[in-house]
Amino acid sequence: GKINIAIDGPAGAGKSTIARKVAGMLTYVYVDTGAMYRAATWYFGQLGIEPEDEEKVLQRLPDLVIELIPEADGQRVFVNGQEATEEIRSLAVNAKVSRYAQIEGLRSRLVSLQRQMALRKGVVMDGRDIGTTVLPDAEVKIFMTASVEERARRRYREMKEQDQITLEQLIRDMNERDRLDREREISPLRQAEDAHLLDTTNMTLDEVAETIVSMCLN
Ligand code: C5P
Repeated sequence: GKINIAIDGPAGAGKSTIARKVAGMLTYVYVDTGAMYRAATWYFGQLGIEPEDEEKVLQRLPDLVIELIPEADGQRVFVNGQEATEEIRSLAVNAKVSRYAQIEGLRSRLVSLQRQMALRKGVVMDGRDIGTTVLPDAEVKIFMTASVEERARRRYREMKEQDQITLEQLIRDMNERDRLDREREISPLRQAEDAHLLDTTNMTLDEVAETIVSMCLN
């Protein structure tokens, strides 16, 4: 039968690329929870509501509709019917997403959507709190890391605004986001006790994907 796979770890560890690849190999569904926090960040940004203004965030939360549409090489993201696929990867969203992600009411809404998507099993879900909070019963849990330099290089390569940021600045931004994610009170970035630690610094994509798939077949 089908199982659920949880992949957590810091920014740029390669979680989304690997999760998508593993989902393809197993004909499972890939769920990118980071894209959901990014979509929420873009939405509140459009409304001019800052992460500090929790009351307004919670007021507008019921109106937020996020759709993740899988595509051959990635996914399209719609927020209340408006496409935001590229916008959610912008530097502006990077800079604020971890602050919106600290809001308890926002997290509990996204977590309940994420649990619904995994009810029928056969899901590969990546994020920060999947193995600990969202899917504590996932049959296979991975905590994926890589050196900070390697993580920054990977993120840099997938960015559209390379001319607007240096690799050094990206490392600083990433470290700051990881710090906020590790230190937040509600479901912080943390390795679940029963998660396999996978350091991908010196591994190819294929090696990482095959390692995870072989864990699922056992
Ligand atoms: O995975 P990605 O880097 O796109 O996630 C962006 C941000 O969304 C993270 O830095 C984190 O603040 C937040 N996030 C979260 N919980 C998740 C997934 C992402 O708090 N499950």
